[in-house]
Amino acid sequence: MRPRSLAALSCALLLTACAASTQSAPKPAFDGARALQHISTQVGFGPRVPNTAGHKRCRQWMLDTLKPLADRVESQSFSYPLGGDSLAMTNVIARFSGSGKGAGVLLAAHWDTRPTADEETDPARRALPIPGANDGASGVAVLMELARQFKSSPPSVPVMLLFVDGEDYGPGLDRMFLGARHFAGHLPPDVPRTGILLDMVGDKNLTIPREPYSVSAARSVVDEVYRIARRLGYQREFPNTEGSPIQDDHLPLIDKGLKVIDLIDFDYGPNHRYWHTLQDTPDKCSAASLKTVGDVVSEWVYTRR
Ligand SMILES: [Zn+2]
Repeated sequence: MRPRSLAALSCALLLTACAASTQSAPKPAFDGARALQHISTQVGFGPRVPNTAGHKRCRQWMLDTLKPLADRVESQSFSYPLGGDSLAMTNVIARFSGSGKGAGVLLAAHWDTRPTADEETDPARRALPIPGANDGASGVAVLMELARQFKSSPPSVPVMLLFVDGEDYGPGLDRMFLGARHFAGHLPPDVPRTGILLDMVGDKNLTIPREPYSVSAARSVVDEVYRIARRLGYQREFPNTEGSPIQDDHLPLIDKGLKVIDLIDFDYGPNHRYWHTLQDTPDKCSAASLKTVGDVVSEWVYTRR
């Protein structure tokens, strides 16, 4: 993602039964520790940069993890021409059918990581790929733990999980959001019209203000999410204030008429100094932050009919 204001820069079984539901089994609590482990697993593959071994390993892990959980898992592969070569990229789509007749929801995150640590001051370090614990792995980690919940206790509404590739390739905006753009250009007929994008949601010091593009495209979804956050006691992490407009994977989807909001904490470390640097490592993230976001998104899904 990229803030508009920085456009000049290269870019327990704790059972929480839903009282209204008599059909579904009570859903297991969102396990933040398990989500944090998903971050370490992804970082352990190495940077998830297209055309690298770490990227291939992570894609395989996503497929292997999702197949026993979702009703259907699909790879949307595409290539992006680059110089005389091309980047091999894959969006992964996992569907949960839902137990009722309500309209489905889309939950998305990017799984690739930035090939260059643009924000490092030392030029030698700047050429290296970022570990992408928060910027990349955190959104995927929350979606993976949600997938476990959805398997264990199917929500009433259908859910499509979308793991997009090529969000952060860069360095400029022309080479970003590549997977989201491809998906938007090849929308499956059953794509849900309403959704949430997660990006940079693992920061230990979590603050997710209302993102302005999301507010203008899907105010009702933003309102629902912040109301749920307040009800769950997460008003500190989800302050009812407006943040900077962030160019992210939700924009190509909004352009296609989908109401997709971006939950993003674009204030990562002191003076934002962990962003797009080699310091974007799992120790900067916390199970509590992942659980906060997971609880809110989970409640938003499970209370829909
Ligand atoms: Zn990024």
